[in-house]
Amino acid sequence: MPASTQARLLDGAGVPALERGLDADDAIARIAASGLRGRGGSGFLLADKLRAVRANAVGRDAYVVANAYDADPDSPLARTLLEGNAELVIRGIEIAMSITGATRAFLYLHPEAAGARSAVERVLAGAEDIEIALGPGGFMGGEESALLNVLESKRAMARQRPPYPASQGYLMRPTLVSSAETLAWLPLVLDGAKAETKLVSVTGAVKKPGVYEVDLGTALGAILDRAGGTTGELKAIHVGGPTGGILAVQRRSTKLDYEDLKAVGTHMGSGQVRAIGTDVCMVREAGRLFAYLAKESCAICVPCRVGTKRVQGILEGVSSSLGRDSDLPWLTELGDHMTQFSLCGFGITAPSILRTTMREFPDDYRVHISERRCPTGTCTTLRARRYETMVQP
Ligand code: SF4
Repeated sequence: MPASTQARLLDGAGVPALERGLDADDAIARIAASGLRGRGGSGFLLADKLRAVRANAVGRDAYVVANAYDADPDSPLARTLLEGNAELVIRGIEIAMSITGATRAFLYLHPEAAGARSAVERVLAGAEDIEIALGPGGFMGGEESALLNVLESKRAMARQRPPYPASQGYLMRPTLVSSAETLAWLPLVLDGAKAETKLVSVTGAVKKPGVYEVDLGTALGAILDRAGGTTGELKAIHVGGPTGGILAVQRRSTKLDYEDLKAVGTHMGSGQVRAIGTDVCMVREAGRLFAYLAKESCAICVPCRVGTKRVQGILEGVSSSLGRDSDLPWLTELGDHMTQFSLCGFGITAPSILRTTMREFPDDYRVHISERRCPTGTCTTLRARRYETMVQP
């Protein structure tokens, strides 16, 4: 019997049986027709990835990696899914292996996801072709190419692409890397369901923070309402986690959708939707997030390694009443440089925080620089001197 076209992942969705003699080309055509896109933030069409790995796997070993790492510690989507329905994810991995011709698969977990690991172990019970692999901890452990290095016992640093994992992934063999949430949709889509939901982690100033499953296209404000509404007056909504963007409250009708989020300068990212109250200064908030990004950067490429650190320093200077008007174009230039020249999505998208806060909250920056005070009265002095560089204007 076909799965409900209204299928959802977190309400105990049934697990369709593995189709005997699954025809790979037919399955890819059905997945393509469903429009299933990667839920791990990138939004790539899964059918395209499956097709590429299958084509590259002719006469070679191929692998499947289900990324359930949850790089953003405030967005435990994969572990929530696995704790609730590990069987569905495992079935998705089995189907992906069948389609691509992979002989071995990894379910890649954060080392602290003990509950999810137990749930997966119960389902796998003796299976030899799917194994659990643990990441190192830290944000970059979840990046698509860095996790391939981890699986090969190397440091969690991003790889130059191309070549992409679909042709040269694990052990330089064709590898499908896809999020656990995306793979969980595979059996449902092949059973006739439409993949129309997204898991989100609602955090910050809401009454009932937690992981929710919402329809793609739901307004950001409605997502906060789903989490019980806000605990006070709302100033901003942060979408996409540490590398996402912060939008002014006036954008609460923006839809949670790949294109709509991109249009306002952010992205699905880690799937976190965070409510920010009026007591938060956006200069300080951007500085706090850049301090985190500078710490989590794998540091292999200069635009990101140096860029995150410089942006952090300048923002800390501005929030410490040491800013100058020339800091703003300099921040813009640094952000553009990072996006243009960084090696992986981390450095490319990290400036979203900078751009969106400068665009949506110009007064927070202006008051700090022109009036030498914090608009919310919450910033403390972080630096005694400006962060100067040889080329800073
Ligand atoms: S962009 Fe940042 S995280 Fe990505 S490879 Fe470069 S240094 Fe590493």
